[in-house]
Amino acid sequence: MLEEDEKKVEILYKVLLLGDWSVGKTCLLMRYMENTFTEMHLSTIGIDSKIKIVNLKEGLDAKIQIWDTAGQERYKTISKSYIKGANGILLVYDVTQRGSFEGIKNWVKQIKDLVSSRVNVVLIGNKIDLENQREVKTEEGEQLSKEFNYQFFETTAKDGININEAFEALIKEIAERYSYKPVKHGYKLENEKASKESKGCC
Ligand code: GDP
Ligand code: MG
Repeated sequence: MLEEDEKKVEILYKVLLLGDWSVGKTCLLMRYMENTFTEMHLSTIGIDSKIKIVNLKEGLDAKIQIWDTAGQERYKTISKSYIKGANGILLVYDVTQRGSFEGIKNWVKQIKDLVSSRVNVVLIGNKIDLENQREVKTEEGEQLSKEFNYQFFETTAKDGININEAFEALIKEIAERYSYKPVKHGYKLENEKASKESKGCC
């Protein structure tokens, strides 16, 4: 039998796409995973999760499991277990739908109620290719992201702009929350570093 330190190392981080219905979550996932885009609304396909292997540093790969909310978000709420299980969340609104931007505060509240500071969040304003239909200014997104201390990206799944950057920024934030111990076949996840803004519970 292999010693504990000799087992093949596997690091898994769970990422969740969250935001109102039709802001482009499924399209962002497809663009990131497969570099494709469709004009169709895809929530009926019911993709649950997809896996991507990402290299964090020399000898350290992580499996990133990305969860898409297959239609539940239509009711402005999704299963608590989705949020609870996430290491990171991409919180998305549509720059052409002010309502989806106003909805962000409600999603933040759901996240804070369930996981407090133990999750990394990146805010995304999507569909910037539709500049002439824009209802939410870039500065408004920036302002909101500062309020919550989230990184902020404006994207278009249609033209494929800024999507890798947003995913990578989130993965980097998650990865930096843990420390890794070098072992024979790579690295072992050691422990979670102390949270920057601990809620000081219990
Ligand atoms: P979800 O409900 O948040 O998963 O939204 P979808 O990914 O299914 O997208 C909803 C609709 O918006 C679809 O018709 C997409 O083609 C469209 N869409 C998504 N992202 C973009 C984008 O960046 N630009 C434009 N113009 N349309 C988009
Ligand atoms: Mg969808």
